[in-house]
Amino acid sequence: MSQGLDAMVVSPGSDLRYLTGYDAKPLERLTALLVRADADAVMVVPALELLAAQASPLTDLGMQICAWSETEDPIALSHGLLGNVGAVAVDAHMWADRLLAFQQVAPSARFVSAASVIDAMRMRKDPQEIQALMTAGAAIDSVHAGMAQWLRPGRTEAEVGADIHAAILAAGHASVDFVIVGSGPNGASPHHELSDRVICGGDVVVVDIGGTMPSGYCSDSTRTYVIGNPLPEFLDRYSVLQAAQAAQVAAVAPGRTCQEIDGIGRSILAEAGMAELFIHRTGHGIGLLTHEEPYIVEGNTLPLEPGMAFSIEPGFYVVGQFGARIEDIVICTPDGGLPVNHRPHELITL
Ligand code: ZN
Ligand code: ZN
Repeated sequence: MSQGLDAMVVSPGSDLRYLTGYDAKPLERLTALLVRADADAVMVVPALELLAAQASPLTDLGMQICAWSETEDPIALSHGLLGNVGAVAVDAHMWADRLLAFQQVAPSARFVSAASVIDAMRMRKDPQEIQALMTAGAAIDSVHAGMAQWLRPGRTEAEVGADIHAAILAAGHASVDFVIVGSGPNGASPHHELSDRVICGGDVVVVDIGGTMPSGYCSDSTRTYVIGNPLPEFLDRYSVLQAAQAAQVAAVAPGRTCQEIDGIGRSILAEAGMAELFIHRTGHGIGLLTHEEPYIVEGNTLPLEPGMAFSIEPGFYVVGQFGARIEDIVICTPDGGLPVNHRPHELITL
Protein backbone atom coordinates (compact mmCIF):
# COMPACT_ATOMS: atom_id res chain seq x y z
CA MET A 1 0.00 0.00 0.00
CA SER A 2 1.28 3.45 -0.90
CA GLN A 3 2.07 6.36 1.41
CA GLY A 4 3.43 4.15 4.21
CA LEU A 5 -0.02 2.88 5.17
CA ASP A 6 -0.55 -0.54 6.72
CA ALA A 7 -4.31 -0.59 6.31
CA MET A 8 -7.35 1.35 5.22
CA VAL A 9 -10.82 1.20 6.79
CA VAL A 10 -13.76 2.43 4.70
CA SER A 11 -17.27 2.80 6.10
CA PRO A 12 -20.55 3.00 4.11
CA GLY A 13 -20.71 5.96 1.75
CA SER A 14 -19.51 7.09 -1.64
CA ASP A 15 -15.90 5.96 -1.07
CA LEU A 16 -17.08 2.41 -0.34
CA ARG A 17 -19.36 2.45 -3.37
CA TYR A 18 -16.52 3.76 -5.52
CA LEU A 19 -14.06 1.11 -4.36
CA THR A 20 -16.39 -1.91 -4.29
CA GLY A 21 -19.73 -1.03 -5.92
CA TYR A 22 -21.46 -1.90 -2.61
CA ASP A 23 -24.02 0.79 -1.72
CA ALA A 24 -24.13 -0.24 1.95
CA LYS A 25 -26.61 1.18 4.43
CA PRO A 26 -25.03 3.54 6.98
CA LEU A 27 -26.31 1.67 10.04
CA GLU A 28 -25.33 1.91 13.70
CA ARG A 29 -24.12 -1.67 13.20
CA LEU A 30 -20.61 -1.70 11.77
CA THR A 31 -20.07 -2.27 8.07
CA ALA A 32 -16.46 -1.69 7.04
CA LEU A 33 -14.11 -2.52 4.22
CA LEU A 34 -10.73 -3.50 5.64
CA VAL A 35 -7.92 -3.10 3.14
CA ARG A 36 -4.69 -4.65 4.34
CA ALA A 37 -1.17 -4.15 3.00
CA ASP A 38 -0.16 -7.78 3.40
CA ALA A 39 -3.45 -9.63 2.90
CA ASP A 40 -6.60 -9.55 0.78
CA ALA A 41 -9.29 -7.00 1.55
CA VAL A 42 -12.21 -8.17 3.65
CA MET A 43 -15.67 -6.74 4.10
CA VAL A 44 -17.07 -6.81 7.63
CA VAL A 45 -20.87 -6.71 7.69
CA PRO A 46 -23.59 -7.31 10.28
CA ALA A 47 -25.08 -10.81 9.85
CA LEU A 48 -28.45 -9.36 8.93
CA GLU A 49 -26.82 -7.51 5.98
CA LEU A 50 -25.00 -10.60 4.69
CA LEU A 51 -27.52 -11.42 1.95
CA ALA A 52 -27.54 -7.81 0.76
CA ALA A 53 -23.76 -7.76 0.68
CA GLN A 54 -23.63 -11.07 -1.22
CA ALA A 55 -26.16 -9.70 -3.74
CA SER A 56 -23.97 -6.63 -4.33
CA PRO A 57 -20.99 -6.27 -6.69
CA LEU A 58 -18.78 -7.53 -3.82
CA THR A 59 -19.50 -11.05 -5.05
CA ASP A 60 -18.26 -10.28 -8.57
CA LEU A 61 -15.11 -8.86 -7.00
CA GLY A 62 -14.66 -12.17 -5.21
CA MET A 63 -14.25 -10.30 -1.96
CA GLN A 64 -14.22 -12.15 1.32
CA ILE A 65 -17.21 -11.14 3.44
CA CYS A 66 -17.03 -11.59 7.19
CA ALA A 67 -20.41 -11.39 8.95
CA TRP A 68 -20.66 -10.67 12.67
CA SER A 69 -23.57 -11.75 14.86
CA GLU A 70 -25.61 -9.44 17.08
CA THR A 71 -23.68 -10.22 20.26
CA GLU A 72 -20.19 -10.03 18.78
CA ASP A 73 -17.99 -6.94 19.09
CA PRO A 74 -17.39 -5.89 15.46
CA ILE A 75 -14.63 -3.44 16.35
CA ALA A 76 -12.65 -6.14 18.14
CA LEU A 77 -13.33 -8.50 15.24
CA SER A 78 -12.08 -5.91 12.75
CA HIS A 79 -9.03 -5.20 14.87
CA GLY A 80 -8.22 -8.91 14.86
CA LEU A 81 -8.55 -9.02 11.07
CA LEU A 82 -6.34 -5.98 10.66
CA GLY A 83 -3.65 -7.37 12.96
CA ASN A 84 -0.85 -5.21 14.22
CA VAL A 85 -0.99 -2.03 12.21
CA GLY A 86 1.03 1.17 12.48
CA ALA A 87 -0.62 3.62 10.10
CA VAL A 88 -4.32 3.24 9.26
CA ALA A 89 -6.20 5.44 6.79
CA VAL A 90 -9.92 5.94 7.33
CA ASP A 91 -12.45 7.39 4.90
CA ALA A 92 -13.15 11.09 5.41
CA HIS A 93 -16.84 10.52 6.14
CA MET A 94 -16.43 7.87 8.82
CA TRP A 95 -18.58 8.62 11.85
CA ALA A 96 -16.58 9.99 14.78
CA ASP A 97 -17.77 7.28 17.17
CA ARG A 98 -16.48 4.61 14.77
CA LEU A 99 -13.07 6.21 14.54
CA LEU A 100 -12.92 6.68 18.32
CA ALA A 101 -13.76 3.00 18.81
CA PHE A 102 -11.00 1.93 16.41
CA GLN A 103 -8.56 4.26 18.15
CA GLN A 104 -9.48 2.72 21.49
CA VAL A 105 -8.76 -0.86 20.40
CA ALA A 106 -5.55 0.10 18.62
CA PRO A 107 -4.04 2.82 20.82
CA SER A 108 -0.59 2.58 19.27
CA ALA A 109 -1.84 2.89 15.67
CA ARG A 110 -1.71 6.20 13.84
CA PHE A 111 -5.00 7.09 12.12
CA VAL A 112 -4.93 9.36 9.08
CA SER A 113 -7.46 10.47 6.49
CA ALA A 114 -7.74 8.33 3.37
CA ALA A 115 -8.97 11.37 1.45
CA SER A 116 -5.68 12.05 -0.32
CA VAL A 117 -5.53 8.46 -1.58
CA ILE A 118 -9.19 8.01 -2.53
CA ASP A 119 -9.90 11.54 -3.81
CA ALA A 120 -6.97 11.29 -6.20
CA MET A 121 -8.62 8.21 -7.72
CA ARG A 122 -12.17 9.56 -7.67
CA MET A 123 -11.21 12.86 -9.28
CA ARG A 124 -10.23 11.24 -12.58
CA LYS A 125 -13.31 9.62 -14.06
CA ASP A 126 -12.95 6.60 -16.29
CA PRO A 127 -14.99 6.25 -19.51
CA GLN A 128 -17.79 4.38 -17.72
CA GLU A 129 -18.09 7.12 -15.10
CA ILE A 130 -18.06 9.80 -17.80
CA GLN A 131 -20.89 7.97 -19.55
CA ALA A 132 -22.80 7.85 -16.25
CA LEU A 133 -22.36 11.62 -15.81
CA MET A 134 -23.51 12.18 -19.42
CA THR A 135 -26.65 10.14 -18.75
CA ALA A 136 -27.28 12.11 -15.55
CA GLY A 137 -26.75 15.38 -17.45
CA ALA A 138 -29.24 14.42 -20.14
CA ALA A 139 -31.79 13.51 -17.46
CA ILE A 140 -31.55 16.86 -15.65
CA ASP A 141 -31.53 18.72 -18.99
CA SER A 142 -34.88 17.10 -19.78
CA VAL A 143 -36.29 18.52 -16.54
CA HIS A 144 -35.12 22.05 -17.41
CA ALA A 145 -36.65 21.56 -20.86
CA GLY A 146 -40.06 21.09 -19.26
CA MET A 147 -39.84 24.10 -16.93
CA ALA A 148 -42.56 26.13 -18.71
CA GLN A 149 -45.15 23.60 -17.58
CA TRP A 150 -44.47 24.29 -13.90
CA LEU A 151 -42.87 27.70 -13.48
CA ARG A 152 -45.76 30.11 -13.92
CA PRO A 153 -46.90 33.34 -12.24
CA GLY A 154 -49.39 32.85 -9.40
CA ARG A 155 -47.77 29.64 -8.18
CA THR A 156 -45.55 29.41 -5.11
CA GLU A 157 -41.92 28.27 -5.25
CA ALA A 158 -42.98 25.25 -3.18
CA GLU A 159 -45.68 24.25 -5.69
CA VAL A 160 -43.25 24.61 -8.59
CA GLY A 161 -40.62 22.71 -6.59
CA ALA A 162 -42.96 19.78 -5.94
CA ASP A 163 -43.56 19.40 -9.68
CA ILE A 164 -39.83 19.63 -10.41
CA HIS A 165 -39.16 17.03 -7.72
CA ALA A 166 -41.54 14.60 -9.44
CA ALA A 167 -40.03 15.41 -12.84
CA ILE A 168 -36.48 14.68 -11.62
CA LEU A 169 -37.62 11.19 -10.60
CA ALA A 170 -39.63 10.73 -13.81
CA ALA A 171 -36.48 11.60 -15.77
CA GLY A 172 -34.76 8.51 -14.38
CA HIS A 173 -33.08 9.67 -11.19
CA ALA A 174 -33.20 7.29 -8.22
CA SER A 175 -33.43 10.21 -5.79
CA VAL A 176 -33.72 13.99 -5.71
CA ASP A 177 -30.77 15.74 -4.07
CA PHE A 178 -31.98 19.36 -4.13
CA VAL A 179 -34.51 21.65 -5.77
CA ILE A 180 -33.76 25.37 -5.64
CA VAL A 181 -36.40 27.73 -6.98
CA GLY A 182 -35.16 31.19 -6.03
CA SER A 183 -37.68 33.75 -7.27
CA GLY A 184 -37.19 37.51 -7.15
CA PRO A 185 -35.21 38.52 -4.03
CA ASN A 186 -34.89 34.84 -3.00
CA GLY A 187 -32.62 34.35 -6.00
CA ALA A 188 -30.00 36.46 -4.23
CA SER A 189 -29.44 33.59 -1.76
CA PRO A 190 -27.47 30.97 -3.74
CA HIS A 191 -28.62 28.04 -1.56
CA HIS A 192 -32.21 29.18 -1.07
CA GLU A 193 -34.40 26.13 -1.64
CA LEU A 194 -38.17 26.67 -1.68
CA SER A 195 -40.62 29.00 0.05
CA ASP A 196 -44.27 29.99 -0.09
CA ARG A 197 -43.42 33.14 -2.06
CA VAL A 198 -45.81 33.54 -4.99
CA ILE A 199 -44.01 33.96 -8.31
CA CYS A 200 -45.14 37.08 -10.15
CA GLY A 201 -44.61 38.97 -13.41
CA GLY A 202 -41.13 40.46 -13.83
CA ASP A 203 -39.54 37.92 -11.46
CA VAL A 204 -36.17 36.45 -12.25
CA VAL A 205 -36.11 32.83 -11.04
CA VAL A 206 -32.94 30.80 -10.41
CA VAL A 207 -33.63 27.08 -10.79
CA ASP A 208 -30.78 24.83 -9.60
CA ILE A 209 -31.66 21.14 -9.52
CA GLY A 210 -29.98 17.78 -9.18
CA GLY A 211 -30.42 14.17 -8.29
CA THR A 212 -28.65 10.82 -8.12
CA MET A 213 -29.06 8.28 -10.89
CA PRO A 214 -29.38 4.51 -10.26
CA SER A 215 -25.69 4.33 -11.21
CA GLY A 216 -24.89 6.46 -8.15
CA TYR A 217 -23.68 9.37 -10.29
CA CYS A 218 -25.16 12.82 -9.75
CA SER A 219 -26.65 15.57 -11.87
CA ASP A 220 -26.54 19.30 -11.11
CA SER A 221 -27.59 22.12 -13.43
CA THR A 222 -28.80 25.69 -13.07
CA ARG A 223 -30.69 27.86 -15.49
CA THR A 224 -32.14 31.31 -14.88
CA TYR A 225 -35.68 32.06 -16.02
CA VAL A 226 -37.70 35.25 -16.17
CA ILE A 227 -41.43 35.76 -16.00
CA GLY A 228 -42.23 38.46 -18.54
CA ASN A 229 -39.88 41.43 -18.70
CA PRO A 230 -37.07 41.87 -16.16
CA LEU A 231 -35.43 45.16 -15.17
CA PRO A 232 -32.97 46.49 -17.79
CA GLU A 233 -30.12 46.51 -15.24
CA PHE A 234 -30.67 42.79 -14.79
CA LEU A 235 -30.40 42.11 -18.52
CA ASP A 236 -27.08 43.95 -18.79
CA ARG A 237 -25.63 41.97 -15.94
CA TYR A 238 -27.00 38.68 -17.25
CA SER A 239 -25.22 39.11 -20.56
CA VAL A 240 -21.94 39.62 -18.69
CA LEU A 241 -22.60 36.46 -16.69
CA GLN A 242 -23.32 34.49 -19.84
CA ALA A 243 -20.06 35.66 -21.39
CA ALA A 244 -18.13 34.79 -18.22
CA GLN A 245 -19.58 31.29 -18.00
CA ALA A 246 -18.92 30.62 -21.69
CA ALA A 247 -15.33 31.84 -21.37
CA GLN A 248 -14.74 29.56 -18.40
CA VAL A 249 -16.13 26.50 -20.18
CA ALA A 250 -14.04 27.32 -23.25
CA ALA A 251 -10.92 27.64 -21.10
CA VAL A 252 -11.11 24.12 -19.69
CA ALA A 253 -8.05 22.17 -20.82
CA PRO A 254 -5.49 19.82 -19.31
CA GLY A 255 -2.81 21.79 -17.49
CA ARG A 256 -5.00 24.79 -16.69
CA THR A 257 -5.30 25.14 -12.93
CA CYS A 258 -8.58 25.19 -11.04
CA GLN A 259 -7.90 28.75 -9.89
CA GLU A 260 -7.22 29.91 -13.45
CA ILE A 261 -10.69 28.75 -14.49
CA ASP A 262 -12.18 30.58 -11.52
CA GLY A 263 -10.19 33.72 -12.30
CA ILE A 264 -11.25 33.85 -15.96
CA GLY A 265 -14.91 34.27 -15.02
CA ARG A 266 -14.23 36.47 -12.03
CA SER A 267 -12.21 38.98 -14.07
CA ILE A 268 -14.95 39.27 -16.72
CA LEU A 269 -17.49 40.04 -13.99
CA ALA A 270 -15.03 42.43 -12.32
CA GLU A 271 -14.50 44.38 -15.55
CA ALA A 272 -18.25 45.04 -15.56
CA GLY A 273 -18.14 46.21 -11.95
CA MET A 274 -19.72 43.00 -10.67
CA ALA A 275 -16.82 41.56 -8.66
CA GLU A 276 -18.58 41.82 -5.30
CA LEU A 277 -21.76 40.26 -6.69
CA PHE A 278 -20.05 36.91 -7.45
CA ILE A 279 -19.97 35.64 -3.88
CA HIS A 280 -19.00 31.98 -4.29
CA ARG A 281 -16.40 29.78 -5.98
CA THR A 282 -16.89 28.87 -9.64
CA GLY A 283 -17.58 25.20 -9.08
CA HIS A 284 -17.08 21.79 -7.57
CA GLY A 285 -16.17 18.33 -8.76
CA ILE A 286 -19.04 15.87 -9.20
CA GLY A 287 -19.36 12.11 -9.34
CA LEU A 288 -20.82 9.80 -6.70
CA LEU A 289 -21.28 12.98 -4.64
CA THR A 290 -22.64 16.28 -5.91
CA HIS A 291 -19.75 18.10 -4.26
CA GLU A 292 -16.30 16.50 -4.35
CA GLU A 293 -12.81 17.29 -5.58
CA PRO A 294 -11.68 19.23 -7.54
CA TYR A 295 -13.01 22.57 -6.31
CA ILE A 296 -12.77 25.37 -8.88
CA VAL A 297 -11.69 28.13 -6.57
CA GLU A 298 -9.02 30.78 -6.09
CA GLY A 299 -6.09 29.19 -4.26
CA ASN A 300 -6.53 25.73 -5.81
CA THR A 301 -3.41 25.33 -7.95
CA LEU A 302 -4.30 21.77 -8.99
CA PRO A 303 -3.86 21.39 -12.77
CA LEU A 304 -6.85 19.96 -14.62
CA GLU A 305 -6.40 16.50 -16.08
CA PRO A 306 -8.44 14.49 -18.58
CA GLY A 307 -11.32 12.77 -16.77
CA MET A 308 -11.90 15.47 -14.19
CA ALA A 309 -15.58 16.45 -14.00
CA PHE A 310 -16.79 19.62 -12.32
CA SER A 311 -19.34 22.40 -12.44
CA ILE A 312 -18.81 25.82 -13.98
CA GLU A 313 -21.43 27.94 -12.22
CA PRO A 314 -20.70 31.63 -11.87
CA GLY A 315 -23.51 33.83 -10.63
CA PHE A 316 -24.36 37.29 -9.40
CA TYR A 317 -26.53 38.20 -6.44
CA VAL A 318 -28.10 41.56 -5.59
CA VAL A 319 -29.61 41.43 -2.10
CA GLY A 320 -33.26 42.45 -2.02
CA GLN A 321 -33.65 42.27 -5.80
CA PHE A 322 -32.56 39.18 -7.71
CA GLY A 323 -29.88 36.64 -8.47
CA ALA A 324 -28.70 34.71 -11.50
CA ARG A 325 -26.54 31.65 -12.09
CA ILE A 326 -25.65 29.49 -15.08
CA GLU A 327 -24.33 26.02 -14.29
CA ASP A 328 -23.08 23.24 -16.49
CA ILE A 329 -21.11 20.14 -15.58
CA VAL A 330 -18.00 19.99 -17.74
CA ILE A 331 -15.55 17.13 -18.27
CA CYS A 332 -11.92 17.89 -19.01
CA THR A 333 -10.79 15.90 -22.05
CA PRO A 334 -7.44 15.95 -23.90
CA ASP A 335 -9.14 18.28 -26.41
CA GLY A 336 -10.72 20.67 -23.91
CA GLY A 337 -13.93 20.95 -21.95
CA LEU A 338 -16.85 18.66 -22.81
CA PRO A 339 -20.12 19.95 -21.29
CA VAL A 340 -22.62 17.33 -20.16
CA ASN A 341 -25.46 19.88 -20.03
CA HIS A 342 -26.85 21.37 -23.21
CA ARG A 343 -29.84 23.56 -22.36
CA PRO A 344 -29.63 27.10 -23.81
CA HIS A 345 -27.69 29.58 -21.70
CA GLU A 346 -29.71 32.65 -22.65
CA LEU A 347 -32.13 34.02 -20.12
CA ILE A 348 -35.25 31.92 -20.65
CA THR A 349 -38.46 33.93 -20.80
CA LEU A 350 -41.58 32.11 -19.64
ZN1 ZN B 1 -23.28 22.82 -8.47
ZN1 ZN C 1 -26.26 23.41 -8.82
